[in-house]
Amino acid sequence: MTDLITTTAADADSAGAVSALSRNTKFTVYTERQLDKIEPLQQLTPEQRFEMRVVATVLPFRVNQYVIDELIDWSNVPADPIFQLTFPQRGMLAPEDFDRMAQALQRDAERAEIQQIAKEIRDKLNPHPAGQQEMNVPMLDGEPLPGMQHKYRETVLFFPSQGQVCHSYCTFCFRWAQFIGDKELKFASNEASSLHRYLAEHKDVTDLLMTGGDPMVMKTSNLEQYLDGLLHPKLAHVQNIRIGTKSLTFWPQRYVTDPDAPELLALLTRLVKGGKHVALMAHFNHWREMQTPIVREAIKRIQATGAIIRAQAPVVQHINDDPQVWARMWRTQVGLGIVPYYMFVERDTGAKRYFEVPLERTYQIYREAIQQVSGLARTARGPSMSAGPGKVEIQGIIDLQGEKVFVLRFIQGRNPDWVQRIFFAKYDPQATWFDDLVPAFGEEKFFFTDEYEAMQAQAQP
Ligand SMILES: *Cc1c(COP(=O)(O)O)cnc(C)c1O
Repeated sequence: MTDLITTTAADADSAGAVSALSRNTKFTVYTERQLDKIEPLQQLTPEQRFEMRVVATVLPFRVNQYVIDELIDWSNVPADPIFQLTFPQRGMLAPEDFDRMAQALQRDAERAEIQQIAKEIRDKLNPHPAGQQEMNVPMLDGEPLPGMQHKYRETVLFFPSQGQVCHSYCTFCFRWAQFIGDKELKFASNEASSLHRYLAEHKDVTDLLMTGGDPMVMKTSNLEQYLDGLLHPKLAHVQNIRIGTKSLTFWPQRYVTDPDAPELLALLTRLVKGGKHVALMAHFNHWREMQTPIVREAIKRIQATGAIIRAQAPVVQHINDDPQVWARMWRTQVGLGIVPYYMFVERDTGAKRYFEVPLERTYQIYREAIQQVSGLARTARGPSMSAGPGKVEIQGIIDLQGEKVFVLRFIQGRNPDWVQRIFFAKYDPQATWFDDLVPAFGEEKFFFTDEYEAMQAQAQP
C-alpha cells in the first residue's frame, strides 16, 4: 500500500492518479471452484487448502482480487481479520460434518452425493432465521409481493433481483442460504412498478431500505429504475432512502473507476436534490476496511452527492470481538464523516458456532468501546438482536430483587407499541442469542409473548 501512495504522487494526469488509487480497476472474482487460482493461498499447507475446500463446498465463498491484494495482510494469515471475513475456516463446520464432507471429497464421490451431503449439513444450520420468510411478506392486490419485507411500520425492505450477490461474501453472513442456490427469495418480473405501487398505498412508510445481497452490484441503469421513481409526488412520504451495502469494503471502485460510477453519483445527487435523505448503510466490521486510498476516495465522492454514510456491523469472533477494534473503527468513521449506527449481535444461523460471542461479552465489548469515544461516536446503538418480535437491545446486566438479569429494550417492534419498552431476562452466561433467553423473576412469559405468538399463528400459510 505504501508504494501505491508513492506512485500516486508521481502521477500527473488525472486518469493516472485515479488508477493509482488501486491496482485493481477490473473486477476479478474467485469462487470455490477457483480456490487453487488464488496465488497467495500457495503459502498455506496443502492440508489448510483442503480444509478450505471442504468448508467452501458447504458454505458460500466468493472473494475478489482487490480484497486479496489490498485488504488482507498475508503475513498475518490465518489471524488477519479480513482473511477471516472472507476465507473459509475449518471451525465453521461441526467436526462430524467437516469429516463427512472431507471423506466424500477424498474418495472423489459423485457430484450428486457431494451436493446431497452439503444440503444435509446446510439444513442443520438454521438457514432461515427469525421467521423472515413467512411473517413479513407484503400484499398487493391480494397477492404476496416477493422480494419485499414489511416488518416495521415505517420501513419497507426491498431485495432487487439483480442485487442478490455481493462483490465478496462475508463468512458469517446471515443471508448465506440465498447464495447457494436456495430460492428463498423469488422475484416478480415487474418489480420496480409493484414496489412503487405498494409504497404509494402505504402512507405511513417513511423509509425504503434496499438490501440484498448488495444493491451496489447492480448497474446504475438498474438502480435508476427503482430509485428515480421515488421522486414522484405520490411518494413524497418516502423521505428516506437507505441502501445497505458492503461495497465500500469489497469494491470501492464502484464509486470511482467503474464505467458507470459517474452516473451512480449523479443518481444519488438527483435523489438528494429531489428532497430525499439518502443513506448508504455501510457494513464495516473492522477499521482496516477503511484504510485504502480507493475507499477514502469513494467515501469523499459519495459525500459530495449529499448522501450520508452510516455504518453498522455485527460483533463476530475472530474478526472484531475486541472493544479496541470497535473504538478505533468508530473513531475512524467519525473522522471520515461516517455516522456509527448499529452494533449487532451475530444471528443464530450459518457458521455461528465459529463466530458467536456470548451476549454478556458482546455487551461488555459495546460498553468498553463506547466508553473510549466521544459523544459523536456514541450514535452507535446496540448491541442489538434482530429477532422475530423486533430489534432487542441489551442495555445492561444488573442485580434486581436478588436476581441477576439482562436488561433488554425494544429498539424496533413488530408492534410499534413495544418500542422503548424495557423487559428482563434471566442472566445466562452462555446465551448467545435472543432465543436462548427466558423471562426473569420466574415469570412464564415476556410481556409480548402472547401477542407475538398470535401474530405467528396468523402468518402460517
Ligand atoms: C433493522 C430493520 C429495519 C430498520 O430499522 P431502523 O431501526 O429504522 O434502523 C427495518 N426492517 C427490518 C426487517 C430490520 O431488521
